[in-house]
Order: sequence, then structure tokens, then C-alpha cells
Amino acid sequence: MKRHLTVAEIEQYVTRSGSVDEIIAIAEHLEACFECRDRAVAIVDPGTTAHELRQPELPRERRWTLTTGVVVTCIAVVVIVIAILVFVIGKR
Ligand SMILES: [Zn+2]
Repeated sequence: MKRHLTVAEIEQYVTRSGSVDEIIAIAEHLEACFECRDRAVAIVDPGTTAHELRQPELPRERRWTLTTGVVVTCIAVVVIVIAILVFVIGKR
């Protein structure tokens, strides 16, 4: 198999739904090709593999941004409270 695998072929391999020859051909390609193995992993387990080209990764990216925003906001609030306390204590 000279060309790269299609998503359908990877799914066929994952679900073992093709013929034995097809499964073997796909397995041999996956063994030799990092790129398709990466895509296969992303299809099997979309939650743990970062891959910019895959659409299902986008909501995860947004959640991460939201979490980062909340953390940064919390840190900013703490810093402001400390600054106010230092200012008030310094005034005495
Ligand atoms: Zn490939």
C-alpha cells in the first residue's frame, strides 16, 4: 500500500470489519507509516491525542482556553487583593 490510508480504511481496521487481506494491508501500512498511525490513534482515542487537523479536537481546545482564563483571573484577583492589603498595611 503506497498511498496513505483513508479514514474509512483506518476505521475498517479498528473495527476489524474488512477482509483479512485488507486488514493485513492496513496493519502493514500502519507499521511503516507514523502519519497514518497517528491518525489511527486519533480516531481510536480522540480525547488524549492532540492533532490540529482534526475537528473533534476544537472543543477540547476551547475548554483548555476557558480553564486557563479562569486560572489567570483567579491569580489576578489574588494579586490585586495582596496589592490592596500591602497598600493598606503600608499606610498605617
Ligand atoms: Zn500513511
